[in-house]
Amino acid sequence: MTEALAHTDTTVRVRVPAKINLHLGIGPLREDGYHDLTTVFESISLYDELTATPADTITLTIEGEGQDTLPTDRRNLAHLAAAELAAYTGTRTGAHLHLKKRIPIAGGLAGGSADAAAALIACNTLWNTGLTPAELDKLAAALGSDVPFCLHGGTALGTGRGEQLHPVLSTGTRHWVIATAHGELATPAVYREVDRLRENGHGTYHDNVDALLAAIRNSDPDTVAKALHNDMQQAATTLMPSLADTLQAGLDEGALTALVSGSGPSCLFLARDERHAGSLAKRLTLRRVAREIHTAESPVPGATLTEA
Ligand code: ATP
Repeated sequence: MTEALAHTDTTVRVRVPAKINLHLGIGPLREDGYHDLTTVFESISLYDELTATPADTITLTIEGEGQDTLPTDRRNLAHLAAAELAAYTGTRTGAHLHLKKRIPIAGGLAGGSADAAAALIACNTLWNTGLTPAELDKLAAALGSDVPFCLHGGTALGTGRGEQLHPVLSTGTRHWVIATAHGELATPAVYREVDRLRENGHGTYHDNVDALLAAIRNSDPDTVAKALHNDMQQAATTLMPSLADTLQAGLDEGALTALVSGSGPSCLFLARDERHAGSLAKRLTLRRVAREIHTAESPVPGATLTEA
């Protein structure tokens, strides 16, 4: 690989969306510690923004969500992604990364994976390292199961541990309210609870996405609402019983359906249209059922350069 010199006057800016799972089927625990998944990912218009500027070493600053709590060294997935790209390409120059975070932390919206995807795109541009999409996908998969999808965005079927992506046809725009309940749910703890519940005879692997794929092909929100599913929902609500109240509040206020996003504690409410989403968000805000409430639409493209 070539060692490229950064242009001193360059600022690279990347916008990256959060992801939701329209379907999340959790298969059995594999020998490598991961679970097989059957999932349908979709990117939503709730974004983090990452800028990269030339520097001697890799550094990271954060404003917004997590600015006082998130690590800024290699424990941060954005920093780690830049370091892995530098190692893979033999790049000796660095980058200063600045992250404007809006995606709630540990909310089941893959914010950390999104930031890793943004850092790969930003540094590949800043350093002129010219990795192909296939090479970026490989680095992304090593960083985390959701990172390849965060690079691509849109709507995709994910298999394996979620890193194997298959295109699916989706039409129209979906409108959501995303309510992130108080507290955090660590993804590994929710997986362990899924396994524990299954050992006790509760819950099975839903790996059939035919009804959902048919629903998103014709985009009728009522049909989509009936087909949404999350195998992690029972485990997330067992660990955080108040989630059931958050989900019920959305249904009481007229959401077409309500489900936990990924491992939670964000809850997704499907609305009929943009106006319906706006009024639902206002009513849920008044009920104080969550620490943060956003409206968003889907699908949207994945990590995108907005300035280079
Ligand atoms: P997932 O569903 O992909 O497991 P999540 O949406 O539930 O993730 P994230 O916000 O991605 O949660 O973060 C999970 C943990 O990852 C955080 O508690 C934090 O310690 C760590 N982390 C590392 N880098 C980041 C980052 N850039 N943004 C958010 N969290 C990060």
